[in-house]
Amino acid sequence: MVTMQRELLTMAILDPMLPRVYEVRQVHRDTADTFSLDLAPADGGEMPAEYTQHAPGQFNMLYVFGAGEVPISISGDPANRSSLIHTIRAVGAVRRVMSTLNAGDQIGIRGPFGTPWPVAAGRPAERGASGIS
Ligand SMILES: Cc1cc2nc3c(=O)[nH]c(=O)nc-3n(C[C@H](O)[C@H](O)[C@H](O)COP(=O)(O)OP(=O)(O)OC[C@H]3O[C@@H](n4cnc5c(N)ncnc54)[C@H](O)[C@@H]3O)c2cc1C
Repeated sequence: MVTMQRELLTMAILDPMLPRVYEVRQVHRDTADTFSLDLAPADGGEMPAEYTQHAPGQFNMLYVFGAGEVPISISGDPANRSSLIHTIRAVGAVRRVMSTLNAGDQIGIRGPFGTPWPVAAGRPAERGASGIS
């Protein structure tokens, strides 16, 4: 498993469509069946520019090793450049396995994907939620 994750990290530097390895920093239990993962690069390095510049409405492909890969919206504050947060409902094959992850576990990420919502500075905020089914 560790060898596979190292290979993925090396390949991801060469090909942005391949997953990068991230580490779970914290798991927040939001409700009985919903949780949020706070992720950081597994190599301890800086958050890659594409993740620190994600915009509202975008999602990543999260790859749970041994279980599979699913699209999950980025739910953290785009202005917070030091954390990458995803909020997940623990239903379905991959998300159930994802709900068993703990701090220190590793996960693969590709992204961000999707067209962001236009959020103009200084205009009244509109809030929406998408993706959790
Ligand atoms: C762009 C995008 C963004 C998304 N963002 C998020 C996100 O932020 N968070 C998130 O949790 N999901 C999100 N999803 C949904 C998630 O990616 C899909 O549901 C995906 O199929 C999950 O894969 P899985 O293997 O966990 O579930 P699967 O096993 O593929 O399928 C889901 C199965 O879970 C069961 N199921 C689904 N919903 C319920 C329910 N409400 N109650 C009971 N059983 C249910 C059903 O049996 C269903 O067939 C997003 C999807 C897209 C396309």
